[in-house]
Amino acid sequence: MPKAGSCLFAIGYFLYTRTRFGRYYHGKDIAKGKEKYNEDGHTIIEPTMFDKLEITPIPIALDNYAYIVMDTESNTCVVIDVGDEEAIMRFLDKMNVIPAAVLTTHKHWDHSAGNAGMRKRYQGLKVYGGYGDNVPDVTHTLMDIEQVKFGGLNFTAIHTPGHTVGHVSYLLDGQALGAPDCLFSGDHLFLGGCGRIFETPPLKMLKSLDIVGRLKKDTLVWPGHEYAVNNLEFACHIEPENADAQARYEWAKAKRERRLTTCPSTIAEELTYNPFLRTDKDSIMKKVTTLDRTDDTTVLVPPDDEMRAQVLAELREQKDAFKYIQ
Ligand SMILES: [Zn+2]
Repeated sequence: MPKAGSCLFAIGYFLYTRTRFGRYYHGKDIAKGKEKYNEDGHTIIEPTMFDKLEITPIPIALDNYAYIVMDTESNTCVVIDVGDEEAIMRFLDKMNVIPAAVLTTHKHWDHSAGNAGMRKRYQGLKVYGGYGDNVPDVTHTLMDIEQVKFGGLNFTAIHTPGHTVGHVSYLLDGQALGAPDCLFSGDHLFLGGCGRIFETPPLKMLKSLDIVGRLKKDTLVWPGHEYAVNNLEFACHIEPENADAQARYEWAKAKRERRLTTCPSTIAEELTYNPFLRTDKDSIMKKVTTLDRTDDTTVLVPPDDEMRAQVLAELREQKDAFKYIQ
């Protein structure tokens, strides 16, 4: 992929996000996923159950996740990020459930291409996206901290710009469901990583990462892609002495060898090994070559937001250029 910020990248990105070319390109990824994994998908489908809540990651294309979120008391169902309506409908038909709504984290086709098909199949379906993101085929746009409720499922749309300008992470209130809060973080926060910063300055992404980093520590993180192994390999490269990163990396590799999902993690866990949530740590800053350090010692603590944004931007660049063993 051309470097973000280059002219070639800007043209490609415009075509991907604003034209049918992007839809076509995503269709190719769905076909590649089917060729590689048949109808089974990249990950074995397994629900996580709580008292009155059931969350099922659905594998889409090569590494995307959509999520079926069920309030099992009122039998109300919401789908997050329909990148491929066929995969979702197949699962909903099996469960004999009609969804109450679709929540879309951002406009990229691998998170939204199925919105049109879902609306066609389920008449009157509400499809939500973030204000200012131009998500295809939405019926409602949500402002920052706006709440939407379906049965016992109470979501707050948290604007987390960075990956896209109107990216939303959805926070599900777990209390009434006998579960921890759940964050559906799309391409904002991943297990061990964060999304590429396509549409805002790094400082805005930093502030969005700070928002999710301040959520309750037991909040479960359900990201938009299965990227854990690569992300953690990079995390171990950045902080080789970080035992939490190393242990999580080994754990993730073992999970993926059996085609099991690595979701969810918790905010508390992410804070221990995710380098993009640790831009204030000296061990991370040491790896950033563009920082203007006044001497060789650890004089940069505590770093201000601008300095942390610089760390974040360079970390992201290093990750984009990183050569994975996997
Ligand atoms: Zn995206």
